Amino acid sequence: MESSPPVFDKPKVELHVHLDGAIKPETILYFGKKRGTQLPADTVEGLLQHICSKKPTCFTEFIGKFSIYLPAITGDREAIERIAYEFVEMKAKEGIIYVEVRYSPHLLASSDQNGPVTPDDVVRLVNQGLKAGEKAFNIKARSILCCIRHEPKWSPEVVELCKKYHNDTVVAIDLAGDESLKTDFCLNHQEAYKKAEQLGIHRTVHAGEVGNVQGIKEAINVLKAERIGHGYHVFEDEAFYKQLLKDNIHFEVCPWSSYLTGACTAPFSEHPIIRFMKDGANYSLNTDDPLIFNSTIHKDYKIAHDYMGFSEEEFKRLNINAAKSSFTTEKEKKELLHKLYEAYDIVQNTDF
Ligand SMILES: [Zn+2]
Repeated sequence: MESSPPVFDKPKVELHVHLDGAIKPETILYFGKKRGTQLPADTVEGLLQHICSKKPTCFTEFIGKFSIYLPAITGDREAIERIAYEFVEMKAKEGIIYVEVRYSPHLLASSDQNGPVTPDDVVRLVNQGLKAGEKAFNIKARSILCCIRHEPKWSPEVVELCKKYHNDTVVAIDLAGDESLKTDFCLNHQEAYKKAEQLGIHRTVHAGEVGNVQGIKEAINVLKAERIGHGYHVFEDEAFYKQLLKDNIHFEVCPWSSYLTGACTAPFSEHPIIRFMKDGANYSLNTDDPLIFNSTIHKDYKIAHDYMGFSEEEFKRLNINAAKSSFTTEKEKKELLHKLYEAYDIVQNTDF
């Protein structure tokens, strides 16, 4: 973990972080022991040795990390509620005042000795944890439910859960999974996204991370995504990129993640995020999976500051854009923006 002081120690907004990639190692060990789950180590240090990526890997290998530790959590009511609560605590400590956390209800569901834990149970439990965390740590936490690329059969239920819990922490639908497998395309999830749109549920899609620009086009044109998770490969089509700039599409970018997953192979000094910054694009900085990347949000800000030439002003601008592109209600968005303007000493109602 980083030891130097944060480069941007002001209130921040985070829009792209996975609940199942942001669990305290102590909690994994606790539930592993309690439930008799096989884990590769019984100390925090030993566990992190197996979970954390230390150097760039391929995306498929990165995805495989989840299966090392998730069995300690899945299908356990107490564990699911607790990771949500501790997530809010973790983000509050990092100076995040509004966070949207995402997860697949199906990947955390399972059955234990007390009976099945359904995807619906998972959402209810996560909600309880997030709400208790909000009260205890005085920040806002909203959630996004993920469809999984190679599991299109889950998507109808995901959108049903988005509907049932709409604005009861749940604010949007996402599509996650391994883009590099090419086992399916956005089209398999089109029905669910169409329904989300009809119901007024916001939409984001992981695209152009390890996949090419075509994936971003499908996300925008077929799934009607309002935000793109990552999107680094958008520059393969300049005209399309210019259109997205014009449409003010928000990119949820994750610098440290993009290095360790092998999504971006260029050095940080030539990273696609620099182009977003120079073009005044609408984007946010995010951790993605801080457990696996052994990081906090400060790491991503530090990389942007030290290697990409980001200024304090740019950090303010991108956080304001993140707040504006958040999926919460208009009323909450206004309150959030007000808090940021105040913390950043910006006179309100300016066109920042
Ligand atoms: Zn992600």
